[in-house]
Amino acid sequence: MFIVAKILRLKCQVFLPLFLIFGGVAVSQDSPVSEPLDGREGRELLLKNFRPQAQLKVAEHLRNKAAFPVVDVHTHFFYKLRSSQQALEDYVAVMDRNRIAVSVSLDGSLNGRLEEHAKFLWGRYKDRFLIFANVDWLGDGTRDNPATWACHRAGFAERTARQLAEAVDSGVSGLKIFKRFGLEYKNPDGSLIKVDDPRFDPIWDACGKLGIPVIIHTADPAAFFEPVDETNERWEELSRHPDWSFHGPNYPSRMELLEARNRVIGKHPNTNFIGAHVANHPEDLDVVSRWLRKYPNLYIETASRISELGRQPFTARKFLMQYSDRIMFGTDGPWPEARLHINWRFFETADESFAYSEKVPPPQGMWRIHGLKLPDDVLQQLYFENACRVIPGVKARLMKYRQSQAQEVQP
Ligand SMILES: [Zn+2]
Repeated sequence: MFIVAKILRLKCQVFLPLFLIFGGVAVSQDSPVSEPLDGREGRELLLKNFRPQAQLKVAEHLRNKAAFPVVDVHTHFFYKLRSSQQALEDYVAVMDRNRIAVSVSLDGSLNGRLEEHAKFLWGRYKDRFLIFANVDWLGDGTRDNPATWACHRAGFAERTARQLAEAVDSGVSGLKIFKRFGLEYKNPDGSLIKVDDPRFDPIWDACGKLGIPVIIHTADPAAFFEPVDETNERWEELSRHPDWSFHGPNYPSRMELLEARNRVIGKHPNTNFIGAHVANHPEDLDVVSRWLRKYPNLYIETASRISELGRQPFTARKFLMQYSDRIMFGTDGPWPEARLHINWRFFETADESFAYSEKVPPPQGMWRIHGLKLPDDVLQQLYFENACRVIPGVKARLMKYRQSQAQEVQP
């Protein structure tokens, strides 16, 4: 078998350069169809074809709803559902089944979309959704000419602060900053706008005065800033999405970005900040712990990071227990319902070695996760108590949700 594999490998090396591609099928002059790199019968295996099925047999405790009402503080109802009423109805049914009381949509851009998005979500379901606004950095400027962007005009931050005050009057609960701020938006001279650019201080100050939190997504997973080579732990994913790599001279280092964000948090102690995706540093929870101790106005949320927390279950459990008053539940959804079930299983059971996503291959690293089995009081803080304290509008909705649940169980 080994010899066959060796010979085939040699043959491939010799004939591959002669392959011509016809409609996606490679043919050589030697044989009519090339051998697929599927790992079968001694052939090599392409990483993208690797679909290992675990043979491990351990106890499973599947969960199809959360143990307590949940506030999902990180969702994208504009980007993921666009304005499909049917998709919204379907997702509200998913929320009902899973015990999600409230979802926070982070897609309320101040470029005019906010009103439309509010109509979409609040038309029928005002009690189940909250909206965060987004800064309109470009305004009526042209995308490829930063000199024309609204954010470079005098008085931009003050105007944005006034827009935010109006948005809060109309029911908005917070501000969401996307990762493009730091990684994409440019100054007129072509350099990237710095996350701690003092021109935007009035925006952060305004949020504090208005009593709304800023959920801020800065940088991305550590692997996205590393060379895309055989040592990169997310090579498989980056090979599918090369544009997700921020490695190289065109980008600041990941730590530069995160430290600039932290300086903003430190400079505005009266504004609450929610560091999206475990403050985007779940690969090193010691460092996130240090940040939480240093900045009492910093909170974090878990969206799209159970893959990271779940590969270090002992460390993650200790971390979540220790900072249980600073952590909120988020998903980055709406996702398929199966993903929600995995979330409940992750936080609520001690199951071992299960997939963190319903997708094959796993979308954020080729590993499995282990459950944290958090105690009930910590689960309640994570699922709703902290959100109640930090995000305006949550508490009233949660009370209504509880009342509606109580009525349902009455005969
Ligand atoms: Zn997101």
